[in-house]
Amino acid sequence: MDTHPNLRINPHRFRQDFLALAAIGATPAGGVDRPTFSPAHLQARAWFARQVKEAGLELRVDGAGNHSAFLGCAGPGAPVLLLGSHLDSVPNGGRFDGALGVLAALEALRVVKEAGLSLKCSLEAIDFTDEEGTLFGLLGSRLLVGALEPHHLAHPRGGRAAFETGLQRAGLSEAGLLSARRDPAGLAGYLELHIEQSSRLQQAGASIGVVTVIVGIGSYRLTFIGQADHAGTTPLAERRDAGLGAAAFTLAARQLVLDSFPGCVVNVGSQRFHPGSFNIVPGRVELDLEFRAADLDTLHGLEAALLELAAAESARWELGLEALRLGLHPPAEMSPLARQAVFQAAAGLELAAVPLSSGAGHDAQSLAPLCPAGMFFIPSTGGSHSPRELAFWDDCLNGANLLLQAALRLAS
Ligand SMILES: [Zn+2]
Repeated sequence: MDTHPNLRINPHRFRQDFLALAAIGATPAGGVDRPTFSPAHLQARAWFARQVKEAGLELRVDGAGNHSAFLGCAGPGAPVLLLGSHLDSVPNGGRFDGALGVLAALEALRVVKEAGLSLKCSLEAIDFTDEEGTLFGLLGSRLLVGALEPHHLAHPRGGRAAFETGLQRAGLSEAGLLSARRDPAGLAGYLELHIEQSSRLQQAGASIGVVTVIVGIGSYRLTFIGQADHAGTTPLAERRDAGLGAAAFTLAARQLVLDSFPGCVVNVGSQRFHPGSFNIVPGRVELDLEFRAADLDTLHGLEAALLELAAAESARWELGLEALRLGLHPPAEMSPLARQAVFQAAAGLELAAVPLSSGAGHDAQSLAPLCPAGMFFIPSTGGSHSPRELAFWDDCLNGANLLLQAALRLAS
């Protein structure tokens, strides 16, 4: 089999694309602000669609709003190898997260088209809807694999109102979302290039991190329910202060993970106090909880321990408790086949590659149960989900060439 080892992406065109996309939703701090279905995000998608058409590739948009460039480079009925990532960002995010993977995928298709290659599968560069979870999290990729049913959509983590308004703005309907589901027989695999969002690659002195497993992530909305009272006249001992329960839980949850769940993390990312005033004892506090673990048993154990802790703290402060599970994504092993293709392609490009787990969630985890899914990182610095996020351009080029070469190995 010819894997076309000398084929490379066009570095100039890739750079032009990167700069053009980074200008859409650009922030003064040097990042981008493109939450799902915001005007900037829709503009980025329109830009992507233009590039697809200008490259002579077929533009496909499914019921979930996933945008794709399709290149039929195999016989009719051949399965498709997906390459992709996402164009949405967290609020006030960085220029590389997601964008790099979509641009590298698009560029890989252009190069294969220009070279006129005939492969064993067709190629598709895909921008998945709402990876970052402004509305839901991994929305497009999970709809594509059929992992979401209507009842899952009832409690989007960004709230129903934002979900409905967002869909409307993008011209999508809730019923139409489910039509994005694909037949697994048509999927040859999935590959994703992404920045590492950590410092392990730099510390290891490696250029490429080949992902072994993507951690499992659970998210909950916990509501501590006390009683709103006059903050001046109610004696401290007589208050049922929901804020105290939420605060005590937040501190204890951290200690629980440090003491009993090594390698795991927990985060309380947001709290809302009701009624929410200087002079009223908080009657109700909603808290957004997320936790992560690399294997399923630990994830379930951590979930149970956190719920038990929340119950204990609410009892201690004489509060009620409501716990709403908003999502539980199991950990996802990356396919040995895809990992091998990335390692071999990296060797061909003389790039030092090391195996690495992913502490962040990615669309590759949605695809993993359905088809050979693989993912790899290039080094990044300056943090992530932040405008300080930075990857050196040489590493970006290496990553794009590796995506191309690994894809050719899987598709040949
Ligand atoms: Zn990302």
